[in-house]
Amino acid sequence: MSDPLYERDQAAAALEEVARAAGPYLGSLDDRPVHDHKADHLLDLLDHPFPERGEGTMDTVRRLLHVGTGAATHSSGPRFFHFIVGGSTPAAQAGDWTTTLLDQVGGLWLTSPFATRAETVVLGWLKELFGLPSSYGAVLTPSATFANLTGLACARQWWGERHGADVTADGLAGLPRMPVLAGGYLHPSSRKALQILGCGRDAARILAADEVGRVDLAAMDRALGEIDGPAVIVANAGEVNAGDFDPIDAMADLAERHGAWLHVDGAFGLFAALSPRLSHLVRGVERADSVTSDGHKWLNVPYESGFAFVREPELMARSFGAWGAAYLPAGDDPHVNYNMLGPESSRRARALPIWATLRAYGRQGHREMVERHHDLALRLGAVVEEADDLELLAPVRLAVVCFRYRPPGVGEEELDALNAWIGAELLADGRVYAGTTTYRGVTALRPAIFNWRTTESDVDLLVSVIREIIARRPI
Ligand SMILES: *Cc1c(COP(=O)(O)O)cnc(C)c1O
Repeated sequence: MSDPLYERDQAAAALEEVARAAGPYLGSLDDRPVHDHKADHLLDLLDHPFPERGEGTMDTVRRLLHVGTGAATHSSGPRFFHFIVGGSTPAAQAGDWTTTLLDQVGGLWLTSPFATRAETVVLGWLKELFGLPSSYGAVLTPSATFANLTGLACARQWWGERHGADVTADGLAGLPRMPVLAGGYLHPSSRKALQILGCGRDAARILAADEVGRVDLAAMDRALGEIDGPAVIVANAGEVNAGDFDPIDAMADLAERHGAWLHVDGAFGLFAALSPRLSHLVRGVERADSVTSDGHKWLNVPYESGFAFVREPELMARSFGAWGAAYLPAGDDPHVNYNMLGPESSRRARALPIWATLRAYGRQGHREMVERHHDLALRLGAVVEEADDLELLAPVRLAVVCFRYRPPGVGEEELDALNAWIGAELLADGRVYAGTTTYRGVTALRPAIFNWRTTESDVDLLVSVIREIIARRPI
């Protein structure tokens, strides 16, 4: 087969093929292992000499589904507890298919008023959901990494302007290094954003009060007092090892006192705002200059999805809009062009799955999901606390449970090896996914519960698989 033009009548049939596979696949997610290692051999079917003549639409789609439904990591199921990974709600998944079906160019109003309006609507809903002022500027991004890049690019633009420079136009040459201060919870994606922005990966000065990484507010206050000129503070709403939070309100006080920019990385933790039980954790976030979060984590929309909010909308336009390309709309275009407010140019209609899930389940449905996950984490935390040979390493704040196996009479070094072995065995087993991290200098498990499908039986299975593994421990 050569030219897709000859197969135009198969466009719908190909999608129907995917839809036919969806029923059995989605139906299997509750019971199948997260990763079936016996299916790994299917990956070889991807490897094929680059074809001179194509295989044709239908055969290719069937082959892809065959390999994918077997050999994919079934991380959208209920037992992927490794890292912070959300699922896809039914409405979000269908919204995502609609995005593909309509194939909009979502960056310009001119190319898609539909995608643009949907983005404006969901950004307004998200501000309401998180309790952020409606006056904030906002843009959808592919991820929290890109959202951090967006927020910190605005911070850099603001900082440059304080020095009388337009860094978007002229770069950073001749300027001092932008001072960035954070506690020990700073996520690597903020460092990545700083490295992309030319500020340097190691620009952030870490002011931590302990080995966990809790921010040292007094030291931050002193450091800000010693800096000549404006600085940037990065606060983390939700840290990945134990789900802890920086004290955002207190950091907003510091930012206010010293005239600093406050950036809040709330990739998953911002969702604490949805629950009256948890919202105290993000108190003060509405005082931040920039705030970021992820859609593909706790909102449970498919990858890729993130959002950035910026107090001063004009800064977004100054940071990203100044392209000067003659064929693009000018700055006084009355319509919003989202490709001028964030790092992407051409982009898909990323708003549609977000619109679908928020419309389908509302504030209440998403709050219930957040609270259910918190309850499940508390339940797992209680199991750990009751067991003589398990040690809870941090209080359960949100939906991450940080703990380790600690049988009596075993030395620290051996404990690290033992827990690393348990983590590796869990991944090799594949029924539940949970790996290890280093927390307070020790090797720990840190299952994270962020998928709408997850219920008590999934969390209980995690515990029983860990018990099975422990029962066959070699030492
Ligand atoms: C996951 C995460 C990020 C990065 O998000 P991506 O969507 O993977 O780019 C940033 N910060 C925190 C706290 C995170 O948990």
